[in-house]
Amino acid sequence: MSDFSETIQNGFRLKCPACREEPLFQSFFKMAAKCARCGYAYEREDGYFICAIYINMIVTLVTIVVGFNMAEWLIEPLLSSQMLFWGLFAAVFPPLFFRTSRGLWVNIDYFVTGISGSHDPPGRGISKEEK
Ligand SMILES: [Zn+2]
Repeated sequence: MSDFSETIQNGFRLKCPACREEPLFQSFFKMAAKCARCGYAYEREDGYFICAIYINMIVTLVTIVVGFNMAEWLIEPLLSSQMLFWGLFAAVFPPLFFRTSRGLWVNIDYFVTGISGSHDPPGRGISKEEK
């Protein structure tokens, strides 16, 4: 089993967790059902990506809380300016971070469960296309 920091790096690179070669996404928002190289099914079951939504939400909220307080500490802007900026940030950032949060989740899940986990081994997972 590989090192966890390599898993996180692979998640940011949006690569397959099993072979670490194939990209997870076919286009900006369309994720492949499984790896074209090794056959690893990315979506293991319905609702599989709920944890990716949690990752996205946590990163967004932590960025807002830290950014808000750093701005207060460094430049002391008007509260209305802060609310406007971070409100827009909360609307724009999550769709842009969507791919990364999915890449992180797929790779973290593979790191934790591996091929001996509760999921089917790579190449034998049931993808949405096979149902
Ligand atoms: Zn692969």
